[in-house]
Amino acid sequence: MLCSPEELVQKNQALSNTWQRYQAAPSFESFVELAVSINSFTEFLIDKGIAALHHASHQLEQVTLALFNKDVGHPLPQAALDDLNERVLALARMTHAHATANAGLEERRRDPQQGAAGNMRVGQTWLIAHNQTAWAGLQAQLGYFGMTAQFTPWDQPLPDTAGDAPLLLLDMSSLPETEWSSRIQALRQRFAMGQLICLEVRSDFEPLQQALRGGCDSCLLVGTPSHAIVEHIMRLNERDEQEAFRVLIVEDSKTASHLIRRTLEENQIVSEIVNDPRLTLNALKQFNPDLILMDMYMPNCTGVEVARIIRQHDEFLSMPIVYLSGETNVALQVDAMRLGGDHFLTKPFNPVFLNTIVKSKIERYRALRRSMYHDSLTGLLNHSSGKHTLDMLLSSVAHEGGFLSVVMMDIDHFKLVNDSYGHPVGDQVIRSLSWLLKQRLRKHDILCRYGGEEFLIALPHTDADQAYAIIDRIRQDFGQIRHPCRDSHFLATASGGIATYPLHQSGDALIKAADEALYEAKRGGRNRIHVSDA
Ligand code: GH3
Ligand code: MG
Ligand code: MG
Ligand code: MG
Repeated sequence: MLCSPEELVQKNQALSNTWQRYQAAPSFESFVELAVSINSFTEFLIDKGIAALHHASHQLEQVTLALFNKDVGHPLPQAALDDLNERVLALARMTHAHATANAGLEERRRDPQQGAAGNMRVGQTWLIAHNQTAWAGLQAQLGYFGMTAQFTPWDQPLPDTAGDAPLLLLDMSSLPETEWSSRIQALRQRFAMGQLICLEVRSDFEPLQQALRGGCDSCLLVGTPSHAIVEHIMRLNERDEQEAFRVLIVEDSKTASHLIRRTLEENQIVSEIVNDPRLTLNALKQFNPDLILMDMYMPNCTGVEVARIIRQHDEFLSMPIVYLSGETNVALQVDAMRLGGDHFLTKPFNPVFLNTIVKSKIERYRALRRSMYHDSLTGLLNHSSGKHTLDMLLSSVAHEGGFLSVVMMDIDHFKLVNDSYGHPVGDQVIRSLSWLLKQRLRKHDILCRYGGEEFLIALPHTDADQAYAIIDRIRQDFGQIRHPCRDSHFLATASGGIATYPLHQSGDALIKAADEALYEAKRGGRNRIHVSDA
């Protein structure tokens, strides 16, 4: 979804080039290079959500991996060569067709300065159904979070203005199941970069199979309440653009380290090389990797020693360490892992394994870090990491010069919400304010769940007046949200206090002043924003 047609073609070209290189000089090494490049393209497609090409690329990858068989020599037998050639060419044709169809596609993220989606990716949204009135509630709820779902009946094609990557909500209840697969497929073909969500799908095997086979992204079952549909859409859209994975390579051999680096680069993994293991701690602090690839035998010390030294530092206790070594003695491998390593790969390494293991370890490490630094109900930064991030942001703003506004926002009479409607409904109200904030604020703003129903927000390069305008708008819109409860709904309000750097100089001082301003807003009658006058 977030890639230009040029980038897509370029990635595919890289794959075709490795295939040509293999054909020109068939060897195990050039075949490995081909496999890496196919794997890299497949992962790129997953990453960018290009479902239309993924299937073909994945198939090609499977065929290639199956050829990593001891009995298969190089060059490959003619039949295998022909099959691969056909698949590589077909994938290239499909890629070009796809890129042409999507030329000029803009990034879906709107400019947050325009007051539209900030932390969220929200494209054009269409509701395809037979009867609009049944979905009025959903349309209204989406509206609270700045998303307009335009209605169009099943028997009318979507207009050209639908864009290339819309979010399509499909009411399946009004469509005979025998038509599902072909209807969804047609939409998938036209909107390869779009998101297709089927609504009102029966929970049985067949209807789910029909819908998924047609190429939809997800199915919501019959009777899913509108707020749960909204939640699903918000989750889908808030997937952060992942920062590139970072790997520190500790390896004394310059040749080996550059070979590893090149393999990682093929998969968009950023790396830094340390040839002298004694420099590892410095490199860890400066480069801030997600994983360490550690050679076993180096001058002055062994990889196990380096791993143990790293583990003496609390901040690196959970950092994954993968040994990469010619050591095939299993007892030594086990020992190495017992002493602070997470995995053992033997040289010469299989690049596909290397990338797969590195990625899965990093994903788990990042998930662990997320759970340490983020709040589980809202996904926002938790109390301590919010404060810490504010201090970091403040020092960079102080360095560059300029303003920074800190906001404390708190839901009004929240105890009453819990008492009247129950704790789970209260949670939903907290989540809806967090969605609204995520959707309205910019990527580099800090958003933290500071306490139960209290949020800490930091807006860099924003003075008090600007902060007031942004936050007061959010306050007004939050007050409009109808929170569903049983067969009815209720409204809630929030208050906020604002304090600004450089009037207040430290993170603590800003929070204290914003808190006092919040108290003033509460005292003044709630449902309002108060700016600290220091
Ligand atoms: P005020 O307008 O002055 O802010 O009044 P209030 O009732 O919102 O403030 P108070 O601090 O008295 O109550 C906050 C309530 O929030 C009390 C607590 O039980 C509830 N709460 C805290 N964390 C959570 C949570 O995670 N979920 C839910 N549902 N409630 C929570
Ligand atoms: Mg070595
Ligand atoms: Mg409150
Ligand atoms: Mg409170």
